[in-house]
Amino acid sequence: MPMLTDDYKYKGARTKLVTELATKGIQDAGVLKALQLVPRHYFFPKTFYSHAYEDKAFPIGEGQTISQPYTVAYQTQVLHIEKGDKVLEIGTGSGYQAAILMQMGATVYSIERHQALSLKAATLLHKMGYKPVLKHGDGTKGWPQFAPFDKIIVTAGAPVVPQALIEQLAIGGIMVIPVGNEQKQRMVSVIKKSASQIETIELDQFAFVPLIGEQGWQH
Ligand code: SAM
Repeated sequence: MPMLTDDYKYKGARTKLVTELATKGIQDAGVLKALQLVPRHYFFPKTFYSHAYEDKAFPIGEGQTISQPYTVAYQTQVLHIEKGDKVLEIGTGSGYQAAILMQMGATVYSIERHQALSLKAATLLHKMGYKPVLKHGDGTKGWPQFAPFDKIIVTAGAPVVPQALIEQLAIGGIMVIPVGNEQKQRMVSVIKKSASQIETIELDQFAFVPLIGEQGWQH
């Protein structure tokens, strides 16, 4: 892995991006601060550093993408992250979303179905000084050993909300998950009111890569 270097040029590009996200409706100051602080170009191959601060998704290998900064900010804002929150992420991908959550003081458990991506994210996040708990596997089954989670974030498009994830959400916890078909999804916020009661709120429309697994799309 190349040396990680951040400088005024990238910091300035992040300030511009954060201003753009605020105009697009991201209001949570903690989310905007984390996006200002985490160098997104570290998650890109060096030749594409110049694209890191465009508000766009970008390929990361294995047919997957690092989500658009607006999408990362949007999902994080829905979660109302508080310092010390225990968060389960499904779809580690590049590790950028996990870095944003950890920058906000959360403890992150993240599952990725592509081993190569999981290993690459582990190396990078460690080098950046973060300490996530990562695993390679099918995230639609959650991670029962570490449940319950205060917050759950699914960063791939699901056909339904996986039951295992509802079960592993703490009472009072929030899950954010895009639900729909393989082309487009509606962002859904799931709030666990009690052991047997959830409230679901449908939000805006997005387009994610598919969530593939036992309680996701069967490919
Ligand atoms: N959060 C990522 C980031 O910050 O770069 C972006 C993730 S990308 C949009 C979605 C990821 O979900 C892909 O890396 C994909 O391999 C992964 N994925 C899809 N189905 C999965 C599953 N059942 N379990 C774990 N990861 C899954």
